[in-house]
Amino acid sequence: MEGDPFPMPAVTPLAIPQDCPYPDCDRTRPFTWRRRGSYRRKCDERPVPRLQCLRCMRRFSTQTDRVDRGLRRPDLVIPLFKLFVSKVTMRQMASLFRVNLKTIAHRKKLLGRQCIEAHTYVMTTTGVRLGADAPFVFDELETFETSKIRQPLTMPVVMHGRTWFVIHAEIGTLPARRRQKDDSPREHQSNAVVRICLEKTRAITDEKCTPHFVSDRKFSYPKLLRQVFQTYAHLRISSRQARTIHNPMFPINNLFGQMRDNVSSLVRPNWAHAKKREMLGQHVWIYVAYRNYVREITRDCRTHSSASALGIMPRPLEPEELLTIRGRICLAA
Ligand SMILES: [Zn+2]
Repeated sequence: MEGDPFPMPAVTPLAIPQDCPYPDCDRTRPFTWRRRGSYRRKCDERPVPRLQCLRCMRRFSTQTDRVDRGLRRPDLVIPLFKLFVSKVTMRQMASLFRVNLKTIAHRKKLLGRQCIEAHTYVMTTTGVRLGADAPFVFDELETFETSKIRQPLTMPVVMHGRTWFVIHAEIGTLPARRRQKDDSPREHQSNAVVRICLEKTRAITDEKCTPHFVSDRKFSYPKLLRQVFQTYAHLRISSRQARTIHNPMFPINNLFGQMRDNVSSLVRPNWAHAKKREMLGQHVWIYVAYRNYVREITRDCRTHSSASALGIMPRPLEPEELLTIRGRICLAA
């Protein structure tokens, strides 16, 4: 490729959100605090400072808002995050760390929730507005819970075409390909979940531009776009077109390929498939947050993550920055 494919935008780093952990604290005033002693953390005996918020006068510690608060093994959180984006199965993780499979399942839930909340925090607090410089690309990935034939799922994803930033992913059920006698009917949720993705996109679309969309030729997409956007342009790509880098669908084809390769619950039929869609959702959000904020966009572009190429983060983040403070991203000073 010629030139810098991801030119450095004006970076506006987030303020370090060392804010009061109480949601009802008066955030119209600046956050000030004072030290109030310390205590020793049980898991490793390290001293933890206690603080007092001078707005609401309530006391808290640097642990209060931490994702790993109260965990007997807080040391597992970061290594597990890395394994969850590396095609390692949960059974293998349990075996590697000599812990119960339930512990791994619990950490996955914790990490998945943190990743979606941190992403939501970024989407709602950075004022990011997209659509002026590149199209939005969306598609659905088909997978399943428990049984490929009886319990298929669809996962629509919408992303920004230039930086490959994932805006939203959602999971919905599809009707069984072949129903058995005692199966209850499954809803066809494809339109509903695609619509949620489009609505999330509308929320961060630059109002001054006409958003452009790229998708395949699925017949329902034009109608859904009409329902959500007043003006837009839509490029529909034949699924028979070669899936190369020149295909406008390349960003999402690449993402789905990488997901199938790196998210153990999506790797094609094997023992690791997601047993339940909630658990698949947790896993997918761990991967999406990793792709947006931690990973470099391409192996040749070490200086930028998708989020930093958009200018909403100063650089690719360390997993600790993404995962330490509940529901937020906390940049190291
Ligand atoms: Zn407060």
